[in-house]
Amino acid sequence: MKTVKCKERDQLQRSYHRAEKLADTARERLRKKMGTSSREEFRTLQLAAEQAERELKDARRSLDQHIREHHCKAANAVSVRD
Ligand SMILES: [Zn+2]
Repeated sequence: MKTVKCKERDQLQRSYHRAEKLADTARERLRKKMGTSSREEFRTLQLAAEQAERELKDARRSLDQHIREHHCKAANAVSVRD
């Protein structure tokens, strides 16, 4: 089975990985600040982390949806059951 080349999927995959990194960074920052920051500062970081999580989920959904509709899934990609 050969891998289908798809520019749009590549792009969606890149956005997904970027969102993943941002979410990781936000979570890490939140963890480091735990107990050392003011309540307000912590709340701001918490909101930023939540926002990053939402963006990560959206990116994942867009990628999954594209793969489902376009049938351009790479052979080694995470399988989506339907
Ligand atoms: Zn595609």
